[in-house]
Amino acid sequence: MLNFPFQKPEVYYYMFSHLAIFCFLLGVYPAYPLSTLPQPPNPPISQIPNPKSQIPNPYIPFTQLSQKYNLSHEKDYLTGREIFSGNGYKIIAASGMSTILINEKLTVLGERLQLVNGELALSAKDFSKVERILVSPYDRKDKTGKHKGLIKKVVLDPGHGGPFRGCKAKSGLTEKEINLDIAFRLRTLLEQEGIIVVLTRTTDRSLSANLNEDLTRRFEIANREQPDLFISLHCNWSNDPTVRGFEIYYSPENTALPTLTANSLGQKKPDDKQTQQALTHLLKDEYKIRTIEISQELRKHFNKLPTEDRGLKRANFRVTKYTEIPSILIEMDFLSNKTSAKNLSDKSYRQQIVERIRDAIVSYGQ
Ligand SMILES: [Zn+2]
Repeated sequence: MLNFPFQKPEVYYYMFSHLAIFCFLLGVYPAYPLSTLPQPPNPPISQIPNPKSQIPNPYIPFTQLSQKYNLSHEKDYLTGREIFSGNGYKIIAASGMSTILINEKLTVLGERLQLVNGELALSAKDFSKVERILVSPYDRKDKTGKHKGLIKKVVLDPGHGGPFRGCKAKSGLTEKEINLDIAFRLRTLLEQEGIIVVLTRTTDRSLSANLNEDLTRRFEIANREQPDLFISLHCNWSNDPTVRGFEIYYSPENTALPTLTANSLGQKKPDDKQTQQALTHLLKDEYKIRTIEISQELRKHFNKLPTEDRGLKRANFRVTKYTEIPSILIEMDFLSNKTSAKNLSDKSYRQQIVERIRDAIVSYGQ
């Protein structure tokens, strides 16, 4: 008879059954699909060695980017756009889009943006692409290294001129004179900030003997120059002499499609028509939003002037309706009001006006 160490057969049964379970687990567990196992959090971009990594194309939340570059984050619930800004950067992105705007330039992504756990995320490859743009300062400063906002080129349109004098104060001071002087002063200040400035007129003349054509020439200059902003400068007039204050206008029906340039895209223009069309509409959409944002910024700064705030207004002026780029018309104040007319004739007050406009332009997008 064999001498087993344990006399009771249940003990062997117990040991064998446990060994069997152990072997079963050893053999089967590794074959479990990986997706059913708890996943480690997405590694930071620097730790992703190559596309053959275990997770082939992980999506990285934008918050990683905003933390790294110290950007604040807002969401526009109406349009679904998410805006990451600060430090001289402004990124506009939305879930489902395959393009994003980085400091006004469209960047085409490899993959569509997605929501991951409710957070906007981009593919690892696109994350690197965006980072490369953020670290290269081509877009943050001009040659003088001074200007950091989004507006780098402006077309200023001193309203009227020549036979079209605009409105006139009791003193005989005409609107066309004030508008031109303001444009000159503003040009000086903006150029000091490294912003390129183009004027639609630099003398007391109209751009055509025909009023409609005169206005057409003005927006044609804007469309040819492709600035970041067009501002038409005007003074107002009312039959009621008590009315005074500034008004800022934009055109709600501006449907002029932007011209795609290497500058507006921040890269080579795509060859295929469909992509070009999609980008054009995206850019148009962006310009509409930007027009309102710049108007709000202008209003904020104009509010520091000792006059009334008559608000943001919508009107389809010819010069703001047909411009391809964000365009605004400012009615600086009323020449029909005694105090306002006196202010507008004062050089130091005009200087205050242009300083406010400069502040709004420089701070936009910072
Ligand atoms: Zn006018």
